[in-house]
Amino acid sequence: MSKPKVAFFDFTCCEGCQLTVIDSLQTCPELLDAVEIVQFREAMSEKGEDYQIAFVEGSLARPADEERLRGIRERAQVLIALGACAHLGGINAIRNRRPLQKVREYVYGDKAEWFDAYEARPIGAATKVDYFIPGCPIDRDEFLSVVTALLQGREPKIPDYPVCVECKLKENVCLYDKGLTCLGPVARAGCGAICPSYGNSCEACRGLISNPNIDAAEDVLKEHGLTAEQVMAGMDLFGTYQMMEMEGVSYD
Ligand code: SF4
Ligand code: SF4
Ligand code: SF4
Repeated sequence: MSKPKVAFFDFTCCEGCQLTVIDSLQTCPELLDAVEIVQFREAMSEKGEDYQIAFVEGSLARPADEERLRGIRERAQVLIALGACAHLGGINAIRNRRPLQKVREYVYGDKAEWFDAYEARPIGAATKVDYFIPGCPIDRDEFLSVVTALLQGREPKIPDYPVCVECKLKENVCLYDKGLTCLGPVARAGCGAICPSYGNSCEACRGLISNPNIDAAEDVLKEHGLTAEQVMAGMDLFGTYQMMEMEGVSYD
């Protein structure tokens, strides 16, 4: 039986999620026996265009990206957003808060007109995405578990409960009790609450859960004399695109 063919693609990003994939494959080399990788710019020079599973890293940052993404989508049976840039728009979308022309001039100076650009967005804004692997960067073990599920014909399972669950299981002292804020009550778990475990606030790099318990979160905020706006400002690192969507901004 032929092995499933897998390809990796990158759009605007730091490529840290692809590096995490390489790291995963080094620690789990048996996976390389189960699939055939036909395209992976960071790891090989071949560029096969025949694949069933496509992993896409990075945000869309210019109109031409959409056409390239649609070509990938047409060839792939399964398309997976790899990391916060692809899944959420991620840190690239921070620029969407500023006028696009100013951003272009800041980056390209007097050559701004030479380069095409638009507001950064997640790949799901332009095409159907079957699954996502969240995080900045992705979690190595979660990548392996998603690939394993796909190879076994199962639905990959990504946690849809808050980071607070993992944080409390670790018996961390809550950052709110230390006078800080944290997006743990509404952010998607799966990272082992790594940031609060090291004393840093969660900034929801894995996105928001589908049904956050807003009432409970508001009670915590009230108890500490904080407003939702103060806390949600922490979303601006990874979730600017989603925040602006909630504010009614759209780029159609
Ligand atoms: S999600 Fe983070 S680590 Fe992954 S490509 Fe984007 S910026 Fe880099
Ligand atoms: S530190 Fe953050 S993640 Fe941990 S319990 Fe408090 S709010 Fe939740
Ligand atoms: S604690 Fe929050 S910001 Fe840190 S890795 Fe987890 S989801 Fe991302």
